Parts: sequence; C-alpha cells; structure tokens
Amino acid sequence: MLPAMLDLTRQKWHDISPPVSPQIAVFPGDTAYRRDVLMAFPLGNNLELSSVHTTLHLGAHVDAPSHYHPDGASLEKRDLSRYLGACEVRSVSVPPRTRLTPEHLKHVPIRAPRLLLRTGTYPDPQTWTNDFAALSPELVAWLGWQGALLVGIDTPSVDLADDAELLSHAAIFQHDLAILEGVVLDDVPDGIYLLVALPLPLVGADASPVRAILVEM
Ligand SMILES: [Zn+2]
Repeated sequence: MLPAMLDLTRQKWHDISPPVSPQIAVFPGDTAYRRDVLMAFPLGNNLELSSVHTTLHLGAHVDAPSHYHPDGASLEKRDLSRYLGACEVRSVSVPPRTRLTPEHLKHVPIRAPRLLLRTGTYPDPQTWTNDFAALSPELVAWLGWQGALLVGIDTPSVDLADDAELLSHAAIFQHDLAILEGVVLDDVPDGIYLLVALPLPLVGADASPVRAILVEM
C-alpha cells in the first residue's frame, strides 16, 4: 500500500478556487473572462476546441512581483515552493474597507510560513464590491520579519480597491513575499493545511490563475 503522504486523495481537502466563467467578477477596467469556441460537436466538428481571453488576475490567482514593481520578477522565475507547503488559515474580524494590522493577529503566534486570511468581506466572486478589506504594510512587514513565504486573502487584492499607491503590494515586494488572492475560504475551518496553488509557467507574465486547494493534515 502507498504511504498515506503519497495518496493525498485519501485526506480531506478543500477546493478554495471560485469557478471560472464569464460571470466571475474582475477588477473594474480589467479584461473580463471570455471563452471562444472554435470547433464544437453541435456545429458538426469532430472536436470541441476553444480559447480564452482574460485578465490573468482571475479568481484564485497569484501575482508576480513584475505586477507591482518595475524590477520585480515575472512569474516563471518564481520559486514554486512558495506556493506548495504548510499553510495556516486564520479568520479575522475586520470592518469593510479597512486594513488588517498586526494587532488583528498578534494574540496567537503564526504557525506556518504561508498564511491565508479569511475576512469574509468579498462574499460573492460573481459580484464586484469595493468594500473588501485588505492588508496593511505594517502587517506585511510583521509577517516578513517572521519569515513568511506567502500571504493570501479572500478578496481580489491585498490592497484596498481605491488604493492607487498599492502600499501593501510595495511592502510585499520589499519583504519578498508571494501573493495569493481571490481564494474562497467560506467552508474552511481555521487550522494548518498543505497548500497547493501552483501558477502556470507563463513567461513574462504578471500573474496566473491557480487551482488552489488545502489538504487537511
Ligand atoms: Zn492580482
């Protein structure tokens, strides 16, 4: 019999990626998701064949440093180990349109190098709202000092919707964290998991959608 660690499907796991369809909301002004069908069985073709046109910041996705800094690496240059490994899910209570600070988290030590924050402030991936909560640069620095590799959030951005300066993105560049945005954590209890959220090796790209899962340990 296989050792349990080689058969993760025997573990309980959570899919934390919202479905991708034309209904999924994207940042206002960004390119909505569209799938064009080139060939289809109902059209008499012997195949179904399609292509997509979309922002890369779609649903559950990772941002490359080149998205938020002129000297930032593009996606294919990122070490995949950031997106694969021990991860803590932590619920936080924060009002809409506010930034999380270390004060929201400090009372319990962070237990894994990857942290996903459940704010509940972006409840429906198909309905855009500017009301979502975000990270503060202070929180990013606090995580960076503790050796964090990745920070993620259940909203479309680590910054507030109207923050043109992208303060937390800048802090994330400074502390060299990875970003996972747009995850759905509704049914995921707080705890420690194995995170799998691997980006495609899109050469030169600023982001990639991911199929993100959390495996119970
Ligand atoms: Zn993004």
